[in-house]
Amino acid sequence: MKVLLQNPTFRMACQQFDGAADFLGLDASIRERVKWPKRLISVAVPVKLDNGDVKVFEGHRVQHHLTLGPTKGGLRFSPSVDIGEVAALAMWMSWKCALAGLPYGGAKGGIACDPLRMSPRELEALTRRYTVEMIPFIGPHIDVMAPDMGTNEQTMAWMYDTYSTHAGHAVPSIVTGKPVSIGGSMGRREATGRGVAFVTSRALEILKMPADSRIIVQGFGNVGSYAAYGLAKYGAKIVGVGDRTGALYDPNGLDVEKLFVHFQTHATLENFPQGERMTNEELLVQSCDVLIPAATERVITAEIAAKLQCRVLAEAANGPTTFEADAVLKQRGDIFVIPDVLCNAGGVIVSYFEWVQDLQNFFWTEVEVFDKLYRILSQTFDQVLKEARQKNIDHRTAALTLGIQKVVDAKKIRGLFP
Ligand code: GLU
Repeated sequence: MKVLLQNPTFRMACQQFDGAADFLGLDASIRERVKWPKRLISVAVPVKLDNGDVKVFEGHRVQHHLTLGPTKGGLRFSPSVDIGEVAALAMWMSWKCALAGLPYGGAKGGIACDPLRMSPRELEALTRRYTVEMIPFIGPHIDVMAPDMGTNEQTMAWMYDTYSTHAGHAVPSIVTGKPVSIGGSMGRREATGRGVAFVTSRALEILKMPADSRIIVQGFGNVGSYAAYGLAKYGAKIVGVGDRTGALYDPNGLDVEKLFVHFQTHATLENFPQGERMTNEELLVQSCDVLIPAATERVITAEIAAKLQCRVLAEAANGPTTFEADAVLKQRGDIFVIPDVLCNAGGVIVSYFEWVQDLQNFFWTEVEVFDKLYRILSQTFDQVLKEARQKNIDHRTAALTLGIQKVVDAKKIRGLFP
């Protein structure tokens, strides 16, 4: 297990956990039980490529704890994936689900591949074979996957089909984030981004900042694009966006509708006719009211944290702020942080709704979905702020300790077998 510590993202998740566990005063026996992932599964996934060669991809799934229900979390396709990165993301899913009160343990899956360089047929073969390799370890009451970086509704549809073909009947509750036509939930596609927009607007309200605040969104995938769109609808001005090809900044505001259409047709922000072009690192430190990192882990380093020019940091990505950067933010004290486990929880909350709807074969309207989502997000947001105020701690420590404590309590009351 200690081999996981070779991965910097896993080390970061452990540093965060240890800090929260110290604050909670957890003794060594329960601390170790809550910290280490329960199951680490790695599989070899052979795929016949379009050129006739067979390539073996590395696939992983980490199920962090099994104490509160099935495990839940996304599946990512990315070249950097390894078991340590997946374990860190699974751990964060545990605290996120517990914080929002969902009956799940955390999980995450990943395949080391570059989906942008693979054909749809190769991606389908990769997804189906990974699903087959995972069949002994997944199920609607065991472990439920969803989209993450590099995967989407189509990926989930292939997984659903593969699992169902094997079972001999349709099992929609095996994955969430499916197309609505085959048992997906209304609103799931937009849920993470709209949740980010919702909690960000709550922060603006509390800080008495105007609705037309200036927003920078780094990452324009499923999460970043819907967050930008949602905030623009609330009246905010999107002054900067970035994706893997670089970034755009315009202090007068970018046309979000046009950005959205451009991204949907070209799958990149490249050649968008508005704004000054710059690198993503430059974008992060431009002047704005709200900075939303919505791409990947560890983009805000200590060096960048010292240069940030925002009032609110809304963490739409998982783990965007390094442990060292967090220390800088605490010292600065002038940035209102909405930590990832709270900020991007809208995705897994609506995944939970999708799972419940599939199990009951009873489907909700979009209005019902968002009404329930905003109620949970609003309650969780208030809880985190109250905890931070009462205990005089930062928002991340408050969110993590609230989530971790729920897992600790559940483990204690269930007891240790045998
Ligand atoms: N991948 C998303 C996350 O990191 C969603 C997980 C899910 O819906 O299960 O929160």
